Amino acid sequence: MSPPRPNDLDSFWMPYSDNRYFKTNPRMLARAEGMSYFTPEGREILDGTAGLWCCNAGHGRREIVEAIQKQAAIMDFAPTFQLGHPIAFEAAARVAEMTPDGIDRVFFTNSGSESADTALKIALAYQKARGQSQRVRLIGRERGYHGVGFGGMSVGGIGTNRKQFGAMLPYVDHLPHTHDPARNAFTKGMPEHGVELANKLEDLVALHGDTIAAVMVEPVAGSTGVLVPPVGYLKRLREICDKHGILLIYDEVITGFGRLGTDFGAERLGVVPDIMTMAKGLTNAAVPMGAVACSNAVYEAVVEGSPAGIELFHGYTYSGHPLASAAAIATLALHREEDLPGRARAIEPYWEEAAHSLRAAPGVVDIRNLGLIAGIELAPREGKPGARAMDVFRRCFDDGVLVRVTGDIVALSPPLIIEKPHVDRLIGTLSDAIHAIA
Ligand code: PMP
Repeated sequence: MSPPRPNDLDSFWMPYSDNRYFKTNPRMLARAEGMSYFTPEGREILDGTAGLWCCNAGHGRREIVEAIQKQAAIMDFAPTFQLGHPIAFEAAARVAEMTPDGIDRVFFTNSGSESADTALKIALAYQKARGQSQRVRLIGRERGYHGVGFGGMSVGGIGTNRKQFGAMLPYVDHLPHTHDPARNAFTKGMPEHGVELANKLEDLVALHGDTIAAVMVEPVAGSTGVLVPPVGYLKRLREICDKHGILLIYDEVITGFGRLGTDFGAERLGVVPDIMTMAKGLTNAAVPMGAVACSNAVYEAVVEGSPAGIELFHGYTYSGHPLASAAAIATLALHREEDLPGRARAIEPYWEEAAHSLRAAPGVVDIRNLGLIAGIELAPREGKPGARAMDVFRRCFDDGVLVRVTGDIVALSPPLIIEKPHVDRLIGTLSDAIHAIA
């Protein structure tokens, strides 16, 4: 495969990228298989990030490829507005089997961002359907990432994602994030300190009374640098939500489908929400697809509680797209047959030790991990936040390993099929890069 011609780089406006820098030094991926990407020149790059936290079963899985090809030949597209096609219903049933008991109703979207906005709209519709139409307020958390739609961006807690755009959703408030390096730096797994941060929800209830519809959090915040919840934190949030009639929404876009060693983060963390969003690993990212899974109570209030006619004025042309549905069914079958969560659990202790072996590397100020996720936080270079981590990313890529950076944090989330020699190479290359950059 030949590299792109220089002016081929001009038309594509790259998302979340330094477009001008990229054109001076394009790093391209052309092929993928198993644990690896390959550049157009054929150089192998070990995938330390499962693409973007999404190719949990590894790349180019034949079962998924064949399911998509077969479905494309049978029926390319069919609407799911007022019509159905069997494969979308089957995909929803397979998702519902995997979600915690009682979370059995599945609404399909095409991405994590669409799932976040869909979940927020369902939460508002639910409160209205049960006669609580004053509940219009949505609570997120600082450093939360829920995609780039107006709902997810507003409820998300990343100032840099908002500052270009001005107007946001009204009636939104935020909990503090749970990252407390003074007390929890270099914790393995869940931090010991910080359960009391969940009580901030009580403060928001005191402030806003009965106007809060829902709280949305990631079980483990990924995109802002792997923030693992303190022991007891999610349980406390759940209790406060129950006490005050507030829905709890988990954004499981990263934590779903085995990433934490269980089907969903809810299971690993032992606290079940009312609504959960997902995407990424649902189709192993071979075709875009997201979903929102809801408790039966939420579904029943919105659907059975509505007069005859359309119950929820929301949906996407591609909700339950046949190719995505086929990919999801094949992915979830692989997930079960190969016990991907079990594989993640089995290698987690080795992964954890390997990640924490970077503690002595120059400029490393914190390391955090849970399941097959790790975040290595670097001291910011003077006056240039993120610059050191970006140099590490570039150096790793040039040395044959893909890592991800977010601010000053290197985030790792390999495919769940990773084996010990891959872990050694990934962490070894990263260690060399951190030393070289220092
Ligand atoms: N929620 C979470 C927790 C995510 O990590 C992401 C993407 N990293 C999203 C939502 C947005 O997903 P997408 O990019 O598919 O819209």
